[in-house]
Amino acid sequence: MYKGIGVSEGIGIGKALLIEEHSLEYTPKQVEDAAAEKTRFHDAVDVFCKNTQAQADTLRKSVGEKEAEIMLGHISIVQDPFLLGEVDKLIGEGQCAEAAFDSMCNMFIQIFSAADDDVTKQRAADVRDVRSGVLGILLGISEVKLSDAPAGTVICVKELTPSMIAEINKENISGILTETGSTTSHSAILARVLEIPAVMSVQDITKAAKNGDTVIVDGSKGTVIVSPDDEQLRCYNEKREKFMQEKKELEKFRGKPTVSADGTVYELVCNIGKPDDAAKALEFDGEGVGLFRTEFLFMDKTSVPTEEEQFKEYKKAAMILSGRPLIIRTLDIGGDKDIPCLGLAKEENPFMGFRAIRYCLKNRDLFRIQLRAILRASAFGNVSIMFPLITCVEEVREGKALVEELKAELKAEGIAYDENIKVGIMTETAAAGIIADLLAKESDFFSIGTNDLTGYTMAADRGNSDVSYLYSALQPSVLRMIRSIITAAREQNIPVGMCGEAAADPMMIPLLISFGLTEFSVSAPSVLRVRKCISAWTKQKADEAADHVLSLATEKEVRDYLKTV
Ligand code: PEP
Ligand code: MG
Repeated sequence: MYKGIGVSEGIGIGKALLIEEHSLEYTPKQVEDAAAEKTRFHDAVDVFCKNTQAQADTLRKSVGEKEAEIMLGHISIVQDPFLLGEVDKLIGEGQCAEAAFDSMCNMFIQIFSAADDDVTKQRAADVRDVRSGVLGILLGISEVKLSDAPAGTVICVKELTPSMIAEINKENISGILTETGSTTSHSAILARVLEIPAVMSVQDITKAAKNGDTVIVDGSKGTVIVSPDDEQLRCYNEKREKFMQEKKELEKFRGKPTVSADGTVYELVCNIGKPDDAAKALEFDGEGVGLFRTEFLFMDKTSVPTEEEQFKEYKKAAMILSGRPLIIRTLDIGGDKDIPCLGLAKEENPFMGFRAIRYCLKNRDLFRIQLRAILRASAFGNVSIMFPLITCVEEVREGKALVEELKAELKAEGIAYDENIKVGIMTETAAAGIIADLLAKESDFFSIGTNDLTGYTMAADRGNSDVSYLYSALQPSVLRMIRSIITAAREQNIPVGMCGEAAADPMMIPLLISFGLTEFSVSAPSVLRVRKCISAWTKQKADEAADHVLSLATEKEVRDYLKTV
């Protein structure tokens, strides 16, 4: 069994088709007639743009507008005036078109590949794709054609380019295997949209599989089996059937509102860590974002991102969501989340230490930068602010006072922001649960963070396997905590969501419906499953289940009972 990164879920079984890369080797020549060489180069660029435009048109029809834009992005790269100008200059100095274009592309690829973030790295893959396309035309090599692949084909290739995917006849491709790429690659996005199981970054798969070998692609687990035995084939055929059946069921919920069996509408949004994940949230049919964990923007940086840098990221997410809710949580650091660029001191007890809102309120400069960036982004969408790890009323008041101060500052500077921006809190500590009634008076909304709430209520570190038997949101104490938080919010008439993992747990959902939760914030791939689960419950049935659960004394009893409802 080979391991890679599962980028598009599902099981694919078929025959391997190895896509050989054409050699794009050329012998650099000194050119005499620079003008003629420039014309040859620009003609090749024109052909490339025409071909790519045709691929974009195909993708627009087969997949959608957003996906077509990936190909249109390639046209923008090749038409970049700086790139074209520099290539012309090199040709003017006597280089042949191949060498001039190749060296400019290599320069961009090197710059983009060196970046830390996946988005910029993806630009390198785009430039590589453009380079192969234009060099292929200059060298008279015809493009790899995948349109003729027979039914049941599993594509095996070192690097899959979006232009290859544009050629694919979706019905004939059972799976995709590559040696490079990851979840955020354009081709991964396309594979997901086309619903082709795909595993990327499988080391040496183009050597391990030969043309015609039977291969199993498990896009959900990120595993590959070459030449499986009969038992493996039987087992994976069964898994595939089951997956397809469930998927068909879930697809019925795409594009539908999230509504219970007796007609109550809920908000079903996603948890994200990067602005681009907002697009993923929509791709999975999320209705917005209930938790943007901003600490991820700080984690891999060598210095704290500036106001401008943060503003761009928050604005990007807001623009992607175009008016759908976007709850941005302020920096939640400490505990298990270290941010090297902040140089946090080591603590005896980091989970109870100087972290999250506590740290931000004491490091005003850092907090001001982030809040100003969020406020500025609020002019571009439906943005809310959320404070993490609240334990007392003063923290909410201080945080809100700072937001007001910064609003006034922005107003004086003539910078736009949303006057009515909502400021809510994470209820994820035992203290917040116990004074939820007081906090509800100070907050525009609550979001229950069961990941931490479970740990702080049970005094059990989930990273410690010796106490993991205590770490469960179905513990009677945690359930009572959740219920009292929701009740306090309802009494104060403020929305109350849940963004901890428990929000997607089918056993928890009837209890949350009964307690009166209004918003579920889950990981993007869970959206349809949660929507389906909610649709199965009426308030009356959920109340019956919750009443019984609250009469039970142990987590095991709760779990055993909920398995039966
Ligand atoms: C939580 O604690 O439940 C939560 C959603 O926040 P995080 O997992 O980021 O701590
Ligand atoms: Mg938390």
